[in-house]
Amino acid sequence: MTTAAMFSSAADNCSRRAFLITNLQVRPSRSGCTFLRTSSTRSSHARIFASVCSSSSGVIAAMVTDVSAKVIDGKSVAKQIREEIATEISRMKESTGIVPGLAVILVGERKDSATYVRNKKKACDSVGIKSYEAKLSEDSSEQEVLQYISSYNDDPSVNGILVQLPLPSHMNEQNILNAVCIEKDVDGFNPLNIGRLAMRDREPLFVPCTPKGCIELLHRYGVPIKGKRAVVIGRSNIVGMPAALLLQREDATVSIVHSRTKNPEEITREADIVISAVGQPNMVRGSWIKPGAVVIDVGINPVEDANSPRGYRLVGDVCYEEASKIASAITPVPGGVGPMTIAMLLSNTLAAAKRANNFE
Ligand code: NDP
Repeated sequence: MTTAAMFSSAADNCSRRAFLITNLQVRPSRSGCTFLRTSSTRSSHARIFASVCSSSSGVIAAMVTDVSAKVIDGKSVAKQIREEIATEISRMKESTGIVPGLAVILVGERKDSATYVRNKKKACDSVGIKSYEAKLSEDSSEQEVLQYISSYNDDPSVNGILVQLPLPSHMNEQNILNAVCIEKDVDGFNPLNIGRLAMRDREPLFVPCTPKGCIELLHRYGVPIKGKRAVVIGRSNIVGMPAALLLQREDATVSIVHSRTKNPEEITREADIVISAVGQPNMVRGSWIKPGAVVIDVGINPVEDANSPRGYRLVGDVCYEEASKIASAITPVPGGVGPMTIAMLLSNTLAAAKRANNFE
């Protein structure tokens, strides 16, 4: 089954659920917990029971307990995209003899950053992108990093340059990111790219990878965006803000929730599409989700888990267990947005190489 077909069945589920919810009747119980029963006799869902939870804002939301959201499988979509990229790279190589190149600059000894860089290199190898790597010690100077950027800017075999963040605190991140020439800014963080993303009738050369991955998931699952209400939780330069701009470019009506937002739950519950990029484990509860909404969870948060060999496990910003009973489709963590981020980096690098070599 194609992912689009998978989503249509999710959408069917969703409209069926909407039908059920409109037919819910309130049955108060002695325990104080209220149960709902549907009056529908249309399907086996007719006997569905839903518990009602009072949210912090005092608003009541229906929690359907026996229907699960379609899982938006970022891992398998990312695999499919990587295969498409590998095919394109072979075609380019056969026709021009050129392969795309990606340079990664890693400063310092952070283990998580080293792992991300290793994974990016592996991903490049798997699709035929040549990778270049500059490893600098924690105490290197900003000038040294700028020199590497300058030499990669001048090297025609390098089509994309990525500076692994965060940088050590003695370096000025803005100076360093601005030094990457816009044609090689595969992370899409150059203000000129972000500015173009924000403006009508302007095209950025690159879109930041994580938000691009979120929108790609919506497209590949056939989720309509035009005219829909969307809420982005988080407004960081690398995820929340560009995600909101992208949704707006696709004609969604977008609200942004951040740490100073009043009534975030109420605002989020209006959304047909929720993208959460906050970094707070399980912050978005089931009661925040409008029945049938599509939820993209960008958050990657380690939480203690004595049963895991590592002593922790990764969870998203969204309480998956609750939200998956309300939403029509949802990304898991891990296996949702994460794999898409790297796939989009490869896609941006290929696009840069095609542009640099006038290859269609
Ligand atoms: P930042 O810390 O840069 O931004 C967090 C945003 O969330 C800020 O805008 C902040 O608001 C907002 N926020 C914080 N607390 C709350 C709250 N209680 N209610 C509402 N909004 C709040 O994080 P990033 O954007 O870099 O990352 C967010 C998450 O996404 C992290 O878990 C990160 O690990 C993950 N991530 C995952 C990627 C992937 O590939 N899957 C890639 C990048 C990030 P304010 O602006 O007001 O401070």
